[in-house]
Amino acid sequence: MSQAPTTVFLDRDGTIIRDVGYLSRPEDVELLAGAARAITRLNDAGIPVIVITNQSGIGRGSFTVDDYLLTQRRLDDLLHDSGAMIDATYFCPDHPSFTGPCSCRKPGIALFERAVAEHALDMSAPSYIGDRWRDVQPFHQLGGTPVLISGPTTPPEDVECARDEKVTIVASLADAIDVLLGPDQL
Ligand SMILES: [Zn+2]
Repeated sequence: MSQAPTTVFLDRDGTIIRDVGYLSRPEDVELLAGAARAITRLNDAGIPVIVITNQSGIGRGSFTVDDYLLTQRRLDDLLHDSGAMIDATYFCPDHPSFTGPCSCRKPGIALFERAVAEHALDMSAPSYIGDRWRDVQPFHQLGGTPVLISGPTTPPEDVECARDEKVTIVASLADAIDVLLGPDQL
C-alpha cells in the first residue's frame, strides 16, 4: 500500500449521497451505504476532507443557491449524527449552456486551488474520489491519486477513461477508502 493521502477531495452526489439528479430538497439527501463511516476513517486519520461539487442546477434555474445550501446543511447534519465531518465544501453554481464557461466547474481546478489556499492543505499526496471522470481528472494538474467510483449513474465512457489511465475503479466510497487506508479494522 502506498502512503496515506494528505488531503482527500470528494465529490458529493453519487459519491457521498445518492444521485437523484438536480437534488434540491433537503429531505432527498440520502447517505450512501458506508459513506459516513468512510469519512470518519479519514477524520480519525487526521486527513482533511474537502467536498467539491458541480451544482449546475443553480445555473440552469432548477433551484437556488439557498436550496442548495439547505441540502449541504442537511448532509452535514446527517454526517454529524454518524460522527463524521467534512472540513470544507465548495460548489460551482454554473451551467455551461446557461451561464457560460467557468473555471470552477470540474474538471476545472479553481475550487481545488481555492481550498488549498484557504485551508493550507498538504498537496504532497492528495487523493480525488468521485463517480465521474471529471471529479478525479484534476490529478492531471495537481498530482496525487485518483479513485473512480463506478456507480449506477457513472457514464460508461468515464469508466473507459479510468481504465485507459490505469486509475483504480471501485464500487463505493467505502471501497475507495479501503484502497487508500487499507481495510477497515472496525
Ligand atoms: Zn463554475
